[in-house]
Amino acid sequence: MKYCDLHTHTTASDGSDSPAEVIRLAVTSGLKAIAVTDHDTVAGIPEALEASAKLGIELLPGAELSVQIAHGTLHILAYLVDPGSPELNGVLKEVQSARAKRNHFILERLNELGRTISWSELEEMSKGGQIGRPHIARAMVNRGYVRSTHEAFAGYLKKGAPAYIPKSILSPERAITTIHKAGGLAVLAHPISLEFETPAHLDKLVAEWADQGLDGIECYYSMHSQELTRLSLSLCKKYDLVPTGGSDYHGKAKPKIKVGIGKGGLRVPYSCVEALMERWNKGGR
Ligand code: AMP
Ligand code: ZN
Ligand code: FE
Ligand code: FE
Repeated sequence: MKYCDLHTHTTASDGSDSPAEVIRLAVTSGLKAIAVTDHDTVAGIPEALEASAKLGIELLPGAELSVQIAHGTLHILAYLVDPGSPELNGVLKEVQSARAKRNHFILERLNELGRTISWSELEEMSKGGQIGRPHIARAMVNRGYVRSTHEAFAGYLKKGAPAYIPKSILSPERAITTIHKAGGLAVLAHPISLEFETPAHLDKLVAEWADQGLDGIECYYSMHSQELTRLSLSLCKKYDLVPTGGSDYHGKAKPKIKVGIGKGGLRVPYSCVEALMERWNKGGR
């Protein structure tokens, strides 16, 4: 059986390993394919492509877009996009500037709460990559405001907490259309984050996005129960979507999650890549 990992983060966003390092880990883990899917950027793709060619592993160029829905944020994975696409880069630029503004608001809010963090601390930590809440959480630990990044999210940064600021400006439809214009496929990331109430509720959401052109669902995921994996797979069948999967590797930022195996039990069959390629070769649905 051959395996892959279609969801990883690098220093281009909030992962701690360089793109080349993530590719190397994929090779030592014995994977046949890997996707690099940084938050709202494709800046890590050139380095990842070079490393994958050198080390002989298949790379799917990707990204993970932050999308706004009524009850929070949704992540949509982009696969097999052209990283040079003007449409994609235009939208990424908008999202990146919304992200930067949001980070400034979060720092302002934290400052009001007596938890001052400077912009330069974040820039140093992010090594030029997209700055996100995990960087802010780490800065709070470094300053001794909290004991762990978990505590930083729980007490300050997660939705509903005092320094939470919503971020994204993209609608699901615009994200999907932009990914298609960039020649890629759009996949609903980790349905577990949707906080849906019942299977029928998830079904309804997926139906709506499938109608807008969604191509797949991330069924195999580090935090998914077998039940949710099964439900997601059944929705793929129902709406003619490609099942995918990945660890959501972040390196030191999420130390329990490893490339290819997530928390230990994850296995993403390579047939996911074949199904993506088949759909991609047909030019979408
Ligand atoms: P951002 O893109 O700035 O909204 O940050 C998203 C990142 O924060 C993702 O990598 C998430 O896994 C991480 N994250 C979100 N909620 C939490 C949480 N409660 N605890 C730890 N990390 C989280
Ligand atoms: Zn992340
Ligand atoms: Fe995500
Ligand atoms: Fe992710």
